[in-house]
Amino acid sequence: MAFAKEALRNIFRKPSTVQYPFERREPAEGLRGKPVWNMDKCIGCGICSMVCPVKAVEMIGKGKEAIIKHYLYRCIYCAQCAESCPVKAITMTTEFELSGSDKSAMIYVYNREKKSEK
Ligand code: SF4
Ligand code: SF4
Repeated sequence: MAFAKEALRNIFRKPSTVQYPFERREPAEGLRGKPVWNMDKCIGCGICSMVCPVKAVEMIGKGKEAIIKHYLYRCIYCAQCAESCPVKAITMTTEFELSGSDKSAMIYVYNREKKSEK
């Protein structure tokens, strides 16, 4: 009986789901998507590389000359890097459609001249 009532009630309700990818919703507040590095702020301390639990961040060189490599295919979007950065140089964006089959296209290199490149 409870099932019949529930079924009847739902006949007149709008669906909760959307026809993704044809319909899209605004990302939820606080969504942790792709992290991005702002090399204008980065001081090259290496903390983001040290705290990443899945070794998705590599720092090449030291200090202001350092290059950051982000292996997006390893990233679990935990935001530990962003929370630990002392100068807030890492932003968790709301970009979430990040899957791919080519690992080499999922490596981002941040340096001071070019800022970001794959
Ligand atoms: S979000 Fe988490 S997994 Fe991704 S790079 Fe930062 S610390 Fe590593
Ligand atoms: S923690 Fe911040 S300042 Fe330190 S290397 Fe990473 S991005 Fe640069």
